[in-house]
Amino acid sequence: MGRPDVQIVWFKRDLRVHDHASLTAAVSTGSPVLPLYVLEPSLIAHPHTSPRHIELALDGITDLRESLAALGAPLVVRVGEVVDVLEGLFEQVAIDTVHSHEEFGTVATWERDHAVATWCRTRGVRYREHRQSGAMRGLTSRDAWSQQRMRLFNQPLHRRPAAIRPTEVAPGPIPELRDLGLTAETMDYRQQGGENRGREVMRSWLKERVSGYERHLSSPVSGWEGCSRLSVHLTLGTVSAREVHARVQARKGEPASPKFSLKAFEERIAWRDHFAQKLEDAPHIERSALHPAFDALRPAKPNPEALDAFTQGRTGYPMVDAVLRSLAATGWTTFRMRSMVTSFASYDLWLPWQETGRVLARWFTDYDPGIHWPQIQMQSGITGMNALRIYDPVKQQIDHDPTGEFVRKWVPELRDVPDSLLATPWLVATGERHGYPDPIVDHAAAVSQAKRRIGAVRAQIRGDGSTKALLERHGSRRPPPARRRR
Ligand SMILES: Cc1cc2nc3c(=O)[nH]c(=O)nc-3n(C[C@H](O)[C@H](O)[C@H](O)COP(=O)(O)OP(=O)(O)OC[C@H]3O[C@@H](n4cnc5c(N)ncnc54)[C@H](O)[C@@H]3O)c2cc1C
Repeated sequence: MGRPDVQIVWFKRDLRVHDHASLTAAVSTGSPVLPLYVLEPSLIAHPHTSPRHIELALDGITDLRESLAALGAPLVVRVGEVVDVLEGLFEQVAIDTVHSHEEFGTVATWERDHAVATWCRTRGVRYREHRQSGAMRGLTSRDAWSQQRMRLFNQPLHRRPAAIRPTEVAPGPIPELRDLGLTAETMDYRQQGGENRGREVMRSWLKERVSGYERHLSSPVSGWEGCSRLSVHLTLGTVSAREVHARVQARKGEPASPKFSLKAFEERIAWRDHFAQKLEDAPHIERSALHPAFDALRPAKPNPEALDAFTQGRTGYPMVDAVLRSLAATGWTTFRMRSMVTSFASYDLWLPWQETGRVLARWFTDYDPGIHWPQIQMQSGITGMNALRIYDPVKQQIDHDPTGEFVRKWVPELRDVPDSLLATPWLVATGERHGYPDPIVDHAAAVSQAKRRIGAVRAQIRGDGSTKALLERHGSRRPPPARRRR
């Protein structure tokens, strides 16, 4: 074997050829490039992973293989643990560098990346992690965070390479779900993955759909088209957040652009990184509370009856059940509806947030640990630094599904219930509810008990400086928004 020159580009949550820092760096060396994706059994078996996530990844790698093949080097796909796959490739080609993106994921992906770095060191291979997120490793202060983030976002986008010098390594087959020991879930609809699809969603969003975004942010009905639906693409990196940001700036500069909607959207793209930074700075929050005083608040083991009602969408609150059933069947809902079901699980059902987070992570096609775990903690009242956000499911239904279109679709048992009672079907005779259950808890009573329990922990930590320290470490430096009604 000659002098090591092969550049491996190890694709993870960056399944694209546009604005790809690792690919740009590898191609710029002029050496042969080996684009690699590894389907890792340990991550496939992870409790937060579901078959729908793997299907989306398979969409992404199928699309990426074609795009890379057109540039000269098709994606090499392997099934195995990454270090074992790298060791196998090391026997075949002279590896100079492994490039990957800096991932802000779970403890499992962090440990995996660490193992790759160690393997590279022992094999004398260089390991370069390239930034694609506004979150940062080793951040010491949040003070200039936004400015530091903008420095990355304002750099020019990486152009798709014109051509890639390939290696002799065979691309290998792209497995199907069943080859990985998985069975496809029964879903009514699943968003399609892949860079081409992602770019089309980005185009249609900014050209045709973004106007009026702020009006659709909460509704599970109008949010379906009225939100960007870019989350699966941002999560798998089939679009680059930097490119989204750049296109938003360009759109803002067009005559008569919907500036307010674009600004609201741009803020949310920044929130992604703000939350990912929290997970990076406190990786334990995937498992334990940001503020340790809240760790023992809820029982470690869920009440099986309550968990069952939650996972089956049979809590007796129509809006909660409709959202839960729609999530199981489609993998997506709006921010407010995600907040409402988390609030219901954490306050009304008093379920351990880790369990709710796991159920929702498996349902969300856009599961992104950097957003998910900080949000789950925030909506469960255990950060020690955020105001309690408790949602009233009856009010949410009246506000966001006033005609009952959404609830009737997902809770067809309530088809005969008149509009005026659809949010409170327990007031209707049992026979007219076609088996739909009574509420599993009394919302007002459950919430008042939850507030008492949380208030007791808050009283213990009041004035001990812990909240101030958490705000200093993780808090946004922007002034808080005006208080809204829940
Ligand atoms: C309990 C809970 C868990 C969540 N888990 C996830 C998750 O696993 N993956 C995920 O992508 N989003 C998550 N969200 C945030 C939000 O609900 C989704 O990003 C959004 O609904 C996705 O749809 P969209 O792409 O059409 O969003 P848009 O409203 O069009 O927003 C554009 C993008 O901005 C980012 N974004 C939007 N809202 C937020 C927010 N509140 N915090 C951080 N980033 C945001 C997302 O990347 C989103 O794709 C969670 C919210 C809650 C309350």
